Amino acid sequence: MNIENTQGQSIASAETQSVSILGSTGSIGQSTLEVLSLHAQRFHLFALSANTRADLLLSQCEKWQPDYAVLRNPEQAEWLERSLVEKGLTTKLLHGSEGLDFIASHEQVDIVMASIVGSAGLRSTLAAVNAGKKVLLANKESLVMAGALFMQAVEKSGAVLLPIDSEHNAIFQCMPSPTLSGSAEQMAEPAIIANGIRKILLTGSGGPFRTLPMDDFSAITPDQACAHPNWSMGRKISVDSATMMNKGLELIEACWLFDCSPSDIEIVVHPQSVIHSMVEYLDGSVLAQMGHPDMRTPIAHALSWPVRIESGVESLNWAQMNGLTFEAPDIERFPALDIARQAAEVGGSVPIALNAANEIAVEAFLNEAIPFTAIIEVVQQCLEKIPFEEPMTLDAIEAIDFQARKVAKDCCQAFQKVPS
Ligand code: NAD
Ligand code: MG
Repeated sequence: MNIENTQGQSIASAETQSVSILGSTGSIGQSTLEVLSLHAQRFHLFALSANTRADLLLSQCEKWQPDYAVLRNPEQAEWLERSLVEKGLTTKLLHGSEGLDFIASHEQVDIVMASIVGSAGLRSTLAAVNAGKKVLLANKESLVMAGALFMQAVEKSGAVLLPIDSEHNAIFQCMPSPTLSGSAEQMAEPAIIANGIRKILLTGSGGPFRTLPMDDFSAITPDQACAHPNWSMGRKISVDSATMMNKGLELIEACWLFDCSPSDIEIVVHPQSVIHSMVEYLDGSVLAQMGHPDMRTPIAHALSWPVRIESGVESLNWAQMNGLTFEAPDIERFPALDIARQAAEVGGSVPIALNAANEIAVEAFLNEAIPFTAIIEVVQQCLEKIPFEEPMTLDAIEAIDFQARKVAKDCCQAFQKVPS
């Protein structure tokens, strides 16, 4: 088929690419479908997947008629199976983690969008990597938990790993390619040294509570925490943005993706979210990637990389830009940044426990079982209780994850017992 540039001119030709979306009912999954709908000739949708939203998965199947759909949660499987037949759809329904692994690694699949939220996305994302796919990585938690194992698997299988997280996608765009560590054409020395990079500037908006008086933090509700000023995202990552744990997880993610250490990365608060991150070179040049805060841009970039395609995102309106501002992060307000930086430096079991405790605490906060301020306290308490170790296998990583979740749940319960 023909590949067209934004003016509709033919610039290359390639076969239709087959795509599996892990987590198609989520925010990233739905944005991916929006981009794919602009390029129906270029991509074939092989498979979709959901955890519990069987009704949305059904309507996605009606619209896209994929070869396979996976429903992780067994409760509505019977209903979905029946509904697919009633609607005359030929989509085959698969179940559980085996179903996810199947659509992530199937030989007919070229591209896997890894957009399941949290540690639940680790196994299927790794299955795609091990099968040597082009993996579009939104699920940052898999790198936080299993970075070393993950990057080794990328190197071994020859998978092409492309970051979807807007900051990491921006950094990737500001570097000469290919500069992802573990990529098939890996360099002899770390990419940032080989490319004369002085530092990576990881930007973040500062979330909805950047200027809220800290005395008001304990009364923050889940809906307030999920109302991000610039980005529309799933609830877990929205809360992570509100505590700035998201930026901490992204720091760890960047260390693995770009083969650098935490000290190579400076976090810069940029409330307007127009610049999505920057790379500073030894000569003082700073390259930034800009655009609307809309995930369709990094999704389109990665889907067709290295060719550019339409994403549906409008041009920035420079005449109406009221100024871009920058500030240092407030560590007292957002202790998650320091905790995550330390976790990145120590490595081993620490980022695994950090991620697990954070997932449990965020879930408890979203269920109104603990206050907003307890999220980071639960993470800190959990980190103190999980002994350090250096896990070498996926099973060992999952064992630490399991143990940390248990400890974090106990910590959450202790918070519930404290009268407010
Ligand atoms: P979301 O909550 O909107 O969607 C999550 C998806 O994962 C859903 O399709 C859900 O069905 C699926 N899922 C959840 N638990 C599952 C389980 N146990 N097994 C199988 N599937 C399961 O989340 P999101 O905002 O789209 O985020 C997805 C990932 O992308 C996260 O790792 C997040 O950090 C990352 N990310 C998101 C954004 C964003 O703008 N939303 C930006 C950068 C990175
Ligand atoms: Mg991000």
